[in-house]
Amino acid sequence: MKYDFRTKKFTETEVSPDKLAVVGSEQEIDWTTLKNKTENLVTIFKDLNIPNGHPVIIYGHKEHLYPVVILACMHSNTTYIPIDKIYPLERVKKIIEITGSQLLINCSDNTLDLKIPVVINTELKVNINYTPNFTGRIYGNASDPLQYIMFTSGSTGEPKGVQITLNSILTYLDWVKKDFGFCSDDVFMNQAPFTFDVSLCDVLNSFSQGGTLVLTSTDIVKDQEVFFKRLTQYKCSVWTSTPSFAYLFLRHPNFNSENISSIKTFLFIGEELPNRTCALLKKSFTNSRILNAYGPTEATIVTTLIEITDEVIKNYPTLPIGYHMEGSQILIDKKNPENQEGELVIVGDHVSIGYLNNPELNSNKFFIHENKRAFRTGDLGYYKNDLLFCIGRNDDQVKMHGFRIELNEISNVICKNNLISDAVTIALRRNNEVKKIISFVILKNTTEQDILNSELTQFLEKRIPYYMIPGDIVTVNDFPYSAAHKIDKNKLIADYLKNMLQDK
Ligand code: AMP
Repeated sequence: MKYDFRTKKFTETEVSPDKLAVVGSEQEIDWTTLKNKTENLVTIFKDLNIPNGHPVIIYGHKEHLYPVVILACMHSNTTYIPIDKIYPLERVKKIIEITGSQLLINCSDNTLDLKIPVVINTELKVNINYTPNFTGRIYGNASDPLQYIMFTSGSTGEPKGVQITLNSILTYLDWVKKDFGFCSDDVFMNQAPFTFDVSLCDVLNSFSQGGTLVLTSTDIVKDQEVFFKRLTQYKCSVWTSTPSFAYLFLRHPNFNSENISSIKTFLFIGEELPNRTCALLKKSFTNSRILNAYGPTEATIVTTLIEITDEVIKNYPTLPIGYHMEGSQILIDKKNPENQEGELVIVGDHVSIGYLNNPELNSNKFFIHENKRAFRTGDLGYYKNDLLFCIGRNDDQVKMHGFRIELNEISNVICKNNLISDAVTIALRRNNEVKKIISFVILKNTTEQDILNSELTQFLEKRIPYYMIPGDIVTVNDFPYSAAHKIDKNKLIADYLKNMLQDK
């Protein structure tokens, strides 16, 4: 059995329906159960009169139910919004407030203290707390239904919701079918939280191929041997992750094809893939393919692809991000026409229709080019012999351990604290990789210095995910300014490093 996202039907194939469809962190289900559970949920949505295009919050981590709910939402053309347990409650509340969602499906055992009319639990039992009101809370349109809104870090201090429609997903899936070489025998190791589209890519790839999706919770990964056994037990053949995640295992003596022989493909998405990571991986998994895929959430998961062969590793110290998907374009918007590099602009049907309720930002980032949607990525890159390279950003967005972070969001949230008069957040890099995030703050009242760090960290923990909490918070009396009257971030970092050396 497999799922056809175009006709929205489960179709029978030669693949046995008893074949595993989803292996969750707590339970596994076969394809027949996936179909039944999905259809059950769709009936529940109908009975509750959830209109098409209404945002449905999915809460949990790597429980088997999570991808089932994603599929049920897509099947019924409600719009799903993924939330992971790693999100603090305040952020969940904010997302409910922004979207006006009236229904939450809790795939976890956590009890949630949230004000929301309808909650469905792991047993698919419906609890109606009060009457839902869908008026003004329906997004997208019937001709191209809105399938999900994914919230990513927003520089204003509030997360921004990327809206992706069915046509964009179908465009992506057509490309995967043609160029990625997956098949129904594939078993997809899924690890990234569902709040990132790196994770959705396995769900779509596996369900559309009739494969098996093996969910890897953070608890499973804590013990590397347990994780390796799971990979072997379920014969995982496709490993999808950020390069940072794979890097955690590279030096483990058992991370190689002798012990984990099933892995045919490493699919890397979400951040720069370092040459040295590939070189090490090739030594341990000689016969596996390494794929490097690039793309922002705003352009449905990924836009470019390249297989990193031994030759590519040898020829390119900075690895290329490859070739764009058929039917799409990547333009280089050069500030200076004499330069080779410029901002990457993605054009195609897989580009988002824009951020939710954010006309100002939408007009800056999205536009129409030759009748197709286009998105200014903020990434800098260039073409060399038809191959595309990405060399950094033109703004304050960074990636740390694969997580997308707007440094200004951290500063803006810090400034909401009563003790703080101003803040600036900077990424400390080594070899182009972000090693630490440091927030420099000015206090309203300098006598409050002692309570600052612990109080501020607690304050942030309630509002932003753990991966956005700065590694250091440093109080300063004032910010240094450059001749152009901009905060001199280089000086702040230089002083910080000097002080660290003195303290040693
Ligand atoms: P996200 O929206 O979380 O997928 O993050 C998208 C951003 O991550 C892109 O705009 C790039 O800055 C970066 N990124 C994603 N994939 C790659 C890649 N293969 N190489 C370099 N940077 C990447």
